[in-house]
Amino acid sequence: MELHTLADNIRKGNIRAMGKGITLIESKKPEHAQKAAQLLDILLPHTGNSLRVGITGVPGVGKSTFIEAFGSYLTAQGHKVAVLAVDPSSQITGGSILGDKTRMEELSRDPNAFIRPSPAGDTLGGVARRTRETMLLCEAAGYNIIIVETVGVGQSETTVASMVDFFMLLQLATAGDELQGIKKGVMELADAIIINKSDIDQQKTALARQQYENALHILRPKSSNWIVPVLTVSALRNEGVSAVWEMLDSFRTTMQQSGEFDEARKHQSVDWMWALLMDDLKGLFLNHKDVKGIFPQLQEAVSQGITTPSAASRRLLDVFRR
Ligand code: GDP
Repeated sequence: MELHTLADNIRKGNIRAMGKGITLIESKKPEHAQKAAQLLDILLPHTGNSLRVGITGVPGVGKSTFIEAFGSYLTAQGHKVAVLAVDPSSQITGGSILGDKTRMEELSRDPNAFIRPSPAGDTLGGVARRTRETMLLCEAAGYNIIIVETVGVGQSETTVASMVDFFMLLQLATAGDELQGIKKGVMELADAIIINKSDIDQQKTALARQQYENALHILRPKSSNWIVPVLTVSALRNEGVSAVWEMLDSFRTTMQQSGEFDEARKHQSVDWMWALLMDDLKGLFLNHKDVKGIFPQLQEAVSQGITTPSAASRRLLDVFRR
């Protein structure tokens, strides 16, 4: 199909056209990659009009239950919601942590919701690239809330945080007197902490909330205009979900007024450009005929201590530049 027609159909929100576009984005064939790039160029002026929300939390914390409740709440308010996932675990385990069970059944039947599982990719960078591009496609198709879900595999939280406007961390209240299961650094990324399953033990939930608030006090704030809130919800019982939306909405208003919203997106775009450039350069370099020719011996020589790493690196660059 002609790319302009495909783009028009995507802009009309046609699900089949979206599927076709995403298939191009996710394909590893070079001719598809070129088409995908052209398609995104056509769509670019129509992207950006959404609130991009990242959600992370360990398996079992209730991400899909929460997204189902939250997404349904949003579509009932007239929003169009796209749910994407970044799950690099398929590369390690051969199966994905997100997306292989039947998830979000209600939301998947909702005409105003679009759910897409994580693209399979050989690296987190590859998965992130495809998810980011799919996000743009969904925006062009009129989705105004994009949820990007991830589990904490490798650097996936940092990756997702760098592609969204707001990043939230789902937690459980099982802490007792310590904060459980938070990978170092993840709390620093969070714009809000949501304690789920508040229906199980209200006292524990309140205690955990206090502890998270105390812990957050010690961290350097990401923005002087935003105090990271700790909210409690029961995704299962649909409690506290509207408060999460009110919080997000007030974040957007505050950040748009202070200019930080656009500023953060600009930074993300430039960072993204650099990431792509580095990726592409690496690809060019490693596929260079002469580099390929000497790479294995040089690597072996370095590992044997016959050549120094810096000499090997210089040699490779010389060959590449010739
Ligand atoms: P995910 O792995 O993070 O996506 O977690 P799921 O959404 O699959 O939830 C894991 C389990 O926790 C499921 O059995 C859910 O029914 C349950 N669950 C999710 N949210 C709540 C909640 O708010 N309260 C209770 N009691 N159970 C919940």
